[in-house]
Amino acid sequence: MNRIRVMDENLANKIAAGEVVEKCSSIVKELCENSIDAKAKTILINLLEGGKKLIEVIDDGIGMNSDDASLAFQRHATSKIYKDDDLFFIDTLGFRGEALPSIASVSRVELKTSDGNVGTHIVIEGGKRLLEEKSDARKGTMIKVTNLFYNTPARLKYLKSDASELANCVSLVERLALSHPDISFTLNHDDHFVVKTSGSNDLLKTIHEIYGVSVSSKMIEIKNSCDDFDIYGYICKPEILKSNRNHMIVFVNERVVKNFEINKAINDAYYTYKPDIKYPIVILKINTDPTLIDVNIHPTKQDIKMGKMDVLTDLILNTLKDALYKTLLIPNAAERIPVSNPIQKKILESVVKESDEEYSITTQTTFDFANSELEESVEDVIAVNPEMKKLKLYPVGVAHGTYIIAENETGVFLIDQHAAQERINYERNMKALKEKKVATTELLFPITIELSSSDYLKLKAQEDLLLEMGFGIEEFGVNTFVFKHHPTWLLEGHEEESIRRIIDLIVGGLSGFDRVKFNESIAITLSCKMSIKANMHISHEAQEELLNELCLCDNPYNCPHGRPTIIKFTIYDLERMFKRSMN
Ligand code: ZN
Ligand code: ZN
Repeated sequence: MNRIRVMDENLANKIAAGEVVEKCSSIVKELCENSIDAKAKTILINLLEGGKKLIEVIDDGIGMNSDDASLAFQRHATSKIYKDDDLFFIDTLGFRGEALPSIASVSRVELKTSDGNVGTHIVIEGGKRLLEEKSDARKGTMIKVTNLFYNTPARLKYLKSDASELANCVSLVERLALSHPDISFTLNHDDHFVVKTSGSNDLLKTIHEIYGVSVSSKMIEIKNSCDDFDIYGYICKPEILKSNRNHMIVFVNERVVKNFEINKAINDAYYTYKPDIKYPIVILKINTDPTLIDVNIHPTKQDIKMGKMDVLTDLILNTLKDALYKTLLIPNAAERIPVSNPIQKKILESVVKESDEEYSITTQTTFDFANSELEESVEDVIAVNPEMKKLKLYPVGVAHGTYIIAENETGVFLIDQHAAQERINYERNMKALKEKKVATTELLFPITIELSSSDYLKLKAQEDLLLEMGFGIEEFGVNTFVFKHHPTWLLEGHEEESIRRIIDLIVGGLSGFDRVKFNESIAITLSCKMSIKANMHISHEAQEELLNELCLCDNPYNCPHGRPTIIKFTIYDLERMFKRSMN
């Protein structure tokens, strides 16, 4: 039986032919996916001028016999979809049938293909067959696309600059390579190679071949499953982050997808491990029963809708959180200082630019735990991070009134004293805010707070919340409250300031009041206020206590704004830097 068949008209109409060809990368995508379907182990892509002048894809797949080759350029021919119902099963790569004829209708296409027995050579221009003849029988397929949009000048105009067409092609090939580590991809542009993967069938090695060692050495493997989904992949340590979401790459059944809920679950897993404006590098492979994938999504779009999305996002959130929690995440200083990698350089530059508390509370409030119940169950599941909790750091002193220098048998550590204490206070505040029974402290001198009329009314509407939190308040004249007691966890000496901040958060609150977000905001705001500032010298005992408490935190590596608290110089790094070690 021939592999390629003509699909029925109704289905063909569902796949708008023209839409598959809009830029060079969409052609590269269709051709490469054909090669993948043809079980190629090696795919070579040659581009000239970002693909505008030439797109050539050569593979060592099973090739086509002469009948298949001849049918391949007919409209509505496809090897993949036979009837309408099959649209339900997007477990093959795509919607081939339309691609080749569409491409051939707007360019010159040369095809050489062979199944090992007989070779076929076809040339088509603007949809017209100029040549069809026998050719050599090397197994595999070569397709060359030139003169793109020569007959549709309007669409030619929409092509972007060479550099940006190339960038799209590179990003596409990188994603294909990551989704198929078993296939070797090579992308050459104007005779220089841009992407090269070995087809080792090792995802981490493929990550290494694409991103380099500075990324691959900072990846954490993740793997988990539930009844409906298997997930597998790599997530980056928070010390290497990107300024955009482009490197959160998600595959569902080997197709690249974009989905807001999945991205949000990934991002939420990094909550307080990173600033909100930075994004992790994540390569996440999801496998599921294709019947769970929504059929109404347009096949050329990457967006995807799925059944049981909440099950999937819970699985992702829990797995990633757990992986971060169980990994020792202290960045190695020696790897960070000689900045050779442009990505790292960018991150470091942006970190240097940020003054204290760059990351404002307003961005933090956008965070939303999937629900508070889930969060609790996560805490139960998570085992302690034994390596970190056992860590004992001995303070040596404080530099610049800001960085505690500490040591242990493995190396020397620098700890940002403000960031570290902020983390400790934040976790303590979060715990206190979750307590059902609140311990309260009587104020010797009650605190009187006068408000504007509107703020007064807003606060009055939330009187129950204040009571629940452990505040004792009474009305006291015009637009004024007097606070008589407060929850014990408020920092001594900062009661009035803390109360004012809490009032600000309540009256400034958004229309829908969310207690979880509110607690987050309070915990973060007050943790910053409660913490020692830079240029404040603390005693040796206080340093010791701070380090002990830091090591016991759930996330000791970042302040609640996502900035690092601790970095390390290993003994080996020090010996190397001082040339005590020759290797
Ligand atoms: Zn702070
Ligand atoms: Zn901070």
